[in-house]
Parts: sequence; structure tokens; C-alpha cells
Amino acid sequence: MTPAALPANPPLFEVPSLGRRDARPGLSGVEPRDFAAWFAERGQPAYRARQVADQHWSGRVERFTDMRTLPEAVRLALDDAFRLQTLAETTVRPTDDGLTDKALHGLDDGRSVESVLMRYPARGPRRARATVCISSQAGCAVGCPFCATGELGFWRDLSAAEIVDQVRFWAARLARDGERVTNVVFMGMGEPLLNTDAVISAATALTDPRRFGLGARHVTISTSGVVPGIERLTELKPQWTLAVSLHAARAALRDVLVPLNRRWSVDRVVAAAAAYTAATGRRVTYEYVMIDGINDTPTDAADTAALLGGHLAHVNLIPMNPVAHTPWRPSGRDRIEAFAAILRGAGLATTVRRNRGIEIGAACGQLAAERAAEPTPDVVARRRDLLTRRTAAALRDRAPVAG
Ligand code: SAH
Ligand code: SF4
Repeated sequence: MTPAALPANPPLFEVPSLGRRDARPGLSGVEPRDFAAWFAERGQPAYRARQVADQHWSGRVERFTDMRTLPEAVRLALDDAFRLQTLAETTVRPTDDGLTDKALHGLDDGRSVESVLMRYPARGPRRARATVCISSQAGCAVGCPFCATGELGFWRDLSAAEIVDQVRFWAARLARDGERVTNVVFMGMGEPLLNTDAVISAATALTDPRRFGLGARHVTISTSGVVPGIERLTELKPQWTLAVSLHAARAALRDVLVPLNRRWSVDRVVAAAAAYTAATGRRVTYEYVMIDGINDTPTDAADTAALLGGHLAHVNLIPMNPVAHTPWRPSGRDRIEAFAAILRGAGLATTVRRNRGIEIGAACGQLAAERAAEPTPDVVARRRDLLTRRTAAALRDRAPVAG
């Protein structure tokens, strides 16, 4: 098998790239058996594949030419065939709290994507954690109106290596301070389950003890509700955590907040998530962005409790990070607590997420690396107006708010 024949991830639809892409697959996304086959085809002993892979995953070697234990001809052939690094250039922006950092990763075609590192110091018996929030696509086609990435539109899928290399970037930085990545969440740019092959391949590499080596339960895949993607995960039965972005239990409102709801309705999404729980025994996390006056009333809470009641579910309430092109604001503390109380009263485990890194737009779901230009004030005003009208229609048929 030649490297060119290694599995590729075809984009959903072709978009012109800004520059020429590097045809060499990134080693972080190459399956060990394919890598072993490459060595076998060249008459090289099998242990060499393992040797190179181990050096790669150690994070200490940046070039094949530095792998001194290999014959020079093999080093050159490897360099022709593969890349050790798929991210062209990365710039990091720290935040004031010193615990949240955002990285902008350049890709080989001139596009860029973002990832975020969130560090949580040890507290009491709880060990220190370092969570990396990674992107799975450049842009996103789903177009949730409250999301900065959704506003950008879709450019292309990331390869498995481009996904994994975001984590390796942070792992190398943390290693300098004797720290390591403990958790990975697919909550950056893009809809992971619209790039399922690459995401499954990346999550497998991240949780393979012989590759990146994270515990399977420490990887979370967040989806806006791609039912066939959830079904694929269910067939695989991994121990990864599945997070579903719910944001509304009522179909008319969810149609506006998560446009994918028109393709896969909320009932089907919850049923698919329940099948994931049945196959894996894992509790599903439901994310619910709290938007003032839009989806945060006691009626919305009661609808959510009715939808999820009886499921092995955990609800995470997230105050919305304001984005320019919506007229919306985050719900107030009291409203969020009242919402949480209704869910808890119905027996649902519920937490309220404190948003990190808001000041640099680094919170998950706040990533908008590639804005070509800031929209002009009249464009923003038109978008806000359209959104207000669409939402008004969805809110009209809402049951009267109790009390
Ligand atoms: N596309 C996937 C994963 C990326 S978005 C998904 O939608 O699940 C990751 C999370 O950030 C989602 O739950 C999303 O709803 C949330 N998010 C997006 N924009 C946000 C905002 N402005 N404020 C708070 N959370 C937001
Ligand atoms: Fe895409 Fe997720 Fe943003 Fe929706 S919330 S637009 S699915 S990245």
C-alpha cells in the first residue's frame, strides 16, 4: 500500500482552498496497521514502524531527520511520504485569569482553526485537570444563530491528523511545566458528526494506549444532533462521552436555534442518544445555552424535564456568550437557577457552567478564527432583525408561562 492510498476524508462538498494542500498524510492520523504496511512494503523490519510511532507520540521529535536510529534512506522516504506536523503555524493568546489560552492554528491551505486550553488547578481531593477544546472542521455548516462559528459558514473538514495535532500542540506546551492534557472536548469549531470518519479516527488515536493514551472517558464528542453520526458511535460502542446540544425541547424553537432540527428532530436525537446509553452504559450530557427571554422560561424547563425524564442524562446549563450578530443576551443568574431547580426537581442531574475566557472569545463555541472582515453595522442590524422575526414566530405558539 502506498501512502497516497491511505484513507482520506473527503469533504462534504468542495470549496476552493486558499493555497495548495500538502498531499502527505499527517502521521497522527495514520492507522498503525497502515504504517506497518508501509514499512513492510519497503522490506523494513516491523519494529521500525513502532520505533518511529513511539518517537512521534512522545512529542519530543519534530523532524524525521532527527530520528537518528533510522537509516538515512528511510528517514528521507518517511519525509516524502508523511508529515509529523499538520499545523503550519500557531499563535497563542493567553487570558487574564492565566488559566485559559486560545490557539490559532494555521492549516496547510492557508485556512485556520482554533483550540482552547482550560486549566483547572487541584481542589481538595480533586486532581488538577487540563482540558483541551478542539475543532473538527474549519467553519460549520449547521448555522446555529447564537454561535460565532455558525456565523462563518463552512469551509472544510479537518483530517484526523489536523484534529489530533491540536491536542499534541497543547501537550507539548504543558510538558514544559511538567503538566499533561487530561481531557479533550470536541467543542471547538465545527460539527464533529458531520466529519465522522476523521473524528472517530482522531478520538481512537487519542484514546489508544499505544498512541496519545488518554482514558476513553476523558474524551467528549459534542453534537448538535446528527442522528446517523450518533448511530455510528453506538455501533462502535466506545466509552467516549456523548454530549448533545439541546438548547430547546420544543421543535418550533429548536428549528430556529439548531437548524439541524428540521432534518433530525429533537425526539429522534434523544432516542438515538438513549440507544448510545443502552449500548455503552454511558450517561449522555445535554448542553443547553441559556438565552435571556428566548429558551429560559419555567415552561421551557418543564418541556426539557418532560423530554429527558427517565433518561440517564446530565444537563449542563451554559449562559450564552454574547455574539455581535444577535440581539440576544445571556440569561440572568436567577433565571438559570430557577431553570436548574425545575430540572433537578424532575430528577435530572443539572450543573451550571461558568464560562471561561469570555474576554478573548475563547470559550468553547465562541471560536471564529477566520472572519474575513467584521460585518458592517447594517449587515448586523439586518441579521438581528431577521432573527428576531424568526424567533417571534417560534415563541408565539409557546404555552403561557406559568406563574
Ligand atoms: N457543533 C457541536 C460542537 C461545537 S459547539 C455542537 O454544536 O455541539 C460546542 C458547544 O458550544 C455547543 O454546545 C454549542 O451550542 C455551544 N455554543 C455555541 N455558541 C455559544 C455561545 N455563543 N455561548 C455559549 N455556548 C455556545
Ligand atoms: Fe456548528 Fe455547533 Fe456552532 Fe451550531 S453550535 S453552528 S453545530 S459549531
